[in-house]
Amino acid sequence: MKSAFTKSRQLLFVAVILLVLILANGAFLWREVSRLQNDARIINYAGIMRGSIQRACNHELAGRRVDAVIAQVDALIASFENRDSGFEIKMFEERFFKELQELKAAWSLLKYQISAFRASHNDDSRERVLVLAEQCWAASDRLVYTTQYASEAKLNVLEYVFILIILNAIAVLIIIDLVRSYVRQQLEFAAHHDQLTGALNRYSYTIALEREVKRSRRYGSPLSILLFDIDNFKAVNDTHGHKAGDSVLREVARIVSEQIRDSDFLCRVGGEEFVVIAVESDGKSGSAMAEKLRGLIQERNFKTTGRITVSFGVAELGAEENSDSFFKRADAALYRAKQAGRNRVSCAGMKA
Ligand code: GH3
Ligand code: MG
Ligand code: MG
Repeated sequence: MKSAFTKSRQLLFVAVILLVLILANGAFLWREVSRLQNDARIINYAGIMRGSIQRACNHELAGRRVDAVIAQVDALIASFENRDSGFEIKMFEERFFKELQELKAAWSLLKYQISAFRASHNDDSRERVLVLAEQCWAASDRLVYTTQYASEAKLNVLEYVFILIILNAIAVLIIIDLVRSYVRQQLEFAAHHDQLTGALNRYSYTIALEREVKRSRRYGSPLSILLFDIDNFKAVNDTHGHKAGDSVLREVARIVSEQIRDSDFLCRVGGEEFVVIAVESDGKSGSAMAEKLRGLIQERNFKTTGRITVSFGVAELGAEENSDSFFKRADAALYRAKQAGRNRVSCAGMKA
């Protein structure tokens, strides 16, 4: 029972860790996606800036004043500098702002040159506007590329996040499967065992005895049952309380299950009545085992109740006997042990 508790705690622990990992991945993914959206906006604004500079030049060179377009370029440069709209490009930041300054310088020169062109429309100043417009184009182009690089670097990180999420999902499926098989095991255990002592319950006892009787008959191997009952248990309950009585039952079951072989079965068939199905044991070795168990229990000083004793009725399966009559003979032997003064082993005679 303790190991089941530990296992369920471990499963819960792993599930919580996984949940935290999934939530962390989800939060990271969400943040990266919103940063990518932001990058897309920056790329878009840088593109608008690049186009607006060209538009401004084209119109101005054609003799049309476009102050609004020039003001738009100024506003875009200012919004980048002020980091409006949650501007964030992390590791490319230094490069981005260096390029922004280059663009800003080229743009200032261009604006100055546009004013000069407005004053005198000569070929020389037209040529200078065109050269500076080209520089502005190149500078804003670099800005667009830098932002794109930054976004691509983030996309690479996202690939790892996706892999992590897939691994998490696989781990969750494994956990779900583990929990399912664990719950099934627990249900199966609960269906076949007594909750208080962990011994097989009466239903499983009937099945196990039938099976062992058949096996014994088929292979001609001996089979014994050791039926035992705690002496004066009612008085134990009355004196020390039901809880103390329960702990005696648990302790007795533990002592016996530690002593019997792995192939034997310990079953709780009544309130304070148990049976050991001793496989491959004749009446003599069954009695010897019962005697040993009786002695061990008699010597044990139980925590709250002090010393207690048990009485045994032992029977060996007869040649043609069924499990009912087999049990009845053990029960009769137990009755004799009680009648004879308790704390003793009584062996049923062989069935004729
Ligand atoms: P005897 O030596 O003849 O066996 O006497 P006894 O007092 O042991 O027998 P009796 O049949 O009179 O009493 C059995 C007692 O076992 C009565 C009942 O309250 C107690 N009992 C049965 N199941 C449980 C249980 O699960 N827990 C506890 N604490 N007591 C139980
Ligand atoms: Mg009793
Ligand atoms: Mg009883």
